[in-house]
Amino acid sequence: MHRRIIVPGALGAASLMLAIPASAAAHSPGAPGIGDPDYPAYGNGGYDVSHYDLRLKYQPATDRLEGTATILARTTEDLSRFNLDFLLDVGEVRVNGAEASFTTSGEQELEVTPRKPLDKGAPLTVVVRYSGVPSSKQAFGFTSWHRTLDGGVAANEPEAAAWWFPSNDHPLDKATYDVSVQVPDGTQAISNGTLQSTSSRLGWTRWNWRSDQPQATYLATLAVGKFDLTTGTTEGGIPVVNAYSRDLGANDGAARASIERTGEVADWLSEYFGPYPFDALGGYVPNTTTGYALETQTRPFYSPRQFANGSNVSVVVHELAHQWYGDLVSVRGWKDIWINEGFARYAQWLWSEHEGEGTAQELADYTYASHPADDPFWTVRPGDPGPENQFDGAVYDRGALAVQALRNEVGDEDFFAILKGWPAKYAHGNASVADFQRYAEEVSRRPLAALFDTWLFQPSKPDAPAAGARSLGKPSEAPAQPRSWRRIAATNDVHEH
Ligand SMILES: [Zn+2]
Repeated sequence: MHRRIIVPGALGAASLMLAIPASAAAHSPGAPGIGDPDYPAYGNGGYDVSHYDLRLKYQPATDRLEGTATILARTTEDLSRFNLDFLLDVGEVRVNGAEASFTTSGEQELEVTPRKPLDKGAPLTVVVRYSGVPSSKQAFGFTSWHRTLDGGVAANEPEAAAWWFPSNDHPLDKATYDVSVQVPDGTQAISNGTLQSTSSRLGWTRWNWRSDQPQATYLATLAVGKFDLTTGTTEGGIPVVNAYSRDLGANDGAARASIERTGEVADWLSEYFGPYPFDALGGYVPNTTTGYALETQTRPFYSPRQFANGSNVSVVVHELAHQWYGDLVSVRGWKDIWINEGFARYAQWLWSEHEGEGTAQELADYTYASHPADDPFWTVRPGDPGPENQFDGAVYDRGALAVQALRNEVGDEDFFAILKGWPAKYAHGNASVADFQRYAEEVSRRPLAALFDTWLFQPSKPDAPAAGARSLGKPSEAPAQPRSWRRIAATNDVHEH
């Protein structure tokens, strides 16, 4: 949801009249991608979505999802047709009330041709009726829909939306959501934001969730299954809804012992990052066999495997840190992933310090020392890792090392001012690594180009700073392993996003 200048009514009408002589030939197809060099097919050009209304029905026994998406948008150029990103089977598309023709192309492109060409700056209402079995669909060689014993879950990165709703699937186009899902009585449907209401009729229960703050498409989530819900509020008054599959077995206690601390962790993080940015909070654990966790907005997704070795508040810290670094401020392009993962990992280091299990500096020293110069770890460039390394462990660990290097360069006062100021500066928007460097330079009044280049963009191990400086990995010492190291490394093994 980009901010744009709204032309006042009278002026708008005048410019509209002037526009009439322009011929329909000036209208051209919207681009099939939004312009992300790492993922050219992701998102689409020519329009900007403000709201998704998803009214769905899901049958766990057959994994069949059906329903209607109503998309409110505005055109950003004269369009003869436009694309949505989607994988399920489309029955009908209507544009501004009129039936539109459509076709599918590429891996996930739904091309929509309205009856009349669309003028730039006009409101756009798109209704898509659809159905399908999400677990039967793949795009780009992967699936983001996880079938469980009692339902299914949509959660993945960098894409998940196409398995359950048509969208402009890129973080650049954020929108608000109403997600209403009908499931058999006794089954729960979990999504982002606030649970507005549930209602039951003829054996089916409808779950109505609302996200009224902008949300990127990959951060929207849906889980259907048999869940036990817990509710509460944070000290700051944010309502908390957590959901646990009733089939977590031996991991149930450890999952609850971690996720029931969500309010406490969010309050603790807000001391570093500023007030918690959304009006709902929680977490959910479906009975999936996948290993990762994901920062789905307001309500992170956790795999049961994250809790196989006992409670794991560190992974909760990681996913909640993303609510500021990733969700409130999102990547401009996927190459900017360091701003998400470097800082979410660094938050785990700060939590370790808080718990007395090793300071951030000790974790940085140990990380630096434990990867020799010829370790491929150093060939990953966290500032622009490329799609093949987007979620490599080095983006997280070398990424957090870069954060510590910044802290040591600018000092604690400026560092913590940057940490807290950044989410507010780009709230509900998008920003790049270059934007972060500029902001850090502005706050610290120091040139930081060399530091950023060394720690984020060089495919080699940076030299340890000169002796006497506050250094990383003093070469003469073998740093001791901090107590939190194994826990943080273990969450890395099952790959939190
Ligand atoms: Zn992450």
